[in-house]
Amino acid sequence: MHYPYSMLHHRLKYGFCCLLVLSACTTPPAKNPLAQWSPSPNFDARKPRLVVIHQTEMENAEDALRVLHTQNRQGRVSAHYLIANNGKLYQLVEDNQRAWHAGVGSWQGISDINSISIGIELDNNGSEPFEERQILSLIRLLDDLCTRFNIPRNAIIGHADLAPARKVDPSRYFPWQRLAQAGFGQWYGENLADAPENFDPVQALKTLGYDTSDLPAAVRAFHRHYRGIETDVMDKEDGKILFNLQHSTPSG
Ligand SMILES: [Zn+2]
Repeated sequence: MHYPYSMLHHRLKYGFCCLLVLSACTTPPAKNPLAQWSPSPNFDARKPRLVVIHQTEMENAEDALRVLHTQNRQGRVSAHYLIANNGKLYQLVEDNQRAWHAGVGSWQGISDINSISIGIELDNNGSEPFEERQILSLIRLLDDLCTRFNIPRNAIIGHADLAPARKVDPSRYFPWQRLAQAGFGQWYGENLADAPENFDPVQALKTLGYDTSDLPAAVRAFHRHYRGIETDVMDKEDGKILFNLQHSTPSG
């Protein structure tokens, strides 16, 4: 069948319009057409209140960017930022949008972490130290985010902290103490006082934010973060660290 040019043009134009209508339908209108718009000035933007640090567990930033634009074995994934190991900072998702980086997990009893957080991926294969330029770039970004969104400066956690049974990132090489010296995240003092006799370290883990329903996994995540070790049995040193963390002044 051979259409005259004008009819073909009409069909192409009509088809294009359909596509426009379809794509418009994927984003709900900001104002609900069911209601009469009667604007109030008393509101502000929804803001993130937690930052989650990841490592890409890939060999380079280019491969990580490709995955963060598409999907990995578990499905479609993203993060707000990726920092290459040379310190170059990429933004993939707007700060006020919900990136897909946290997955199933919880922190301080909140399970929809993607809705309340900014996700930062660090280009690192998981078994190597982090580059100085990358950490400097991260500190600069954390300062910017915490300032612009008023995120408490101690509300910086690792992916494994919120999903201890599923994730191990960032690895024991991640310099949490260095980050705390720059004013971000939590750390403990040099001379640790002994915890009192009645101190409950498991409750202290929960208070810190960990989901302790799989206690060995939570202890392993805590050990990786605060002691750089990969063991899952608590000892006296954990009690001292947890007691000290509970009684240190939040830097936020
Ligand atoms: Zn992760």
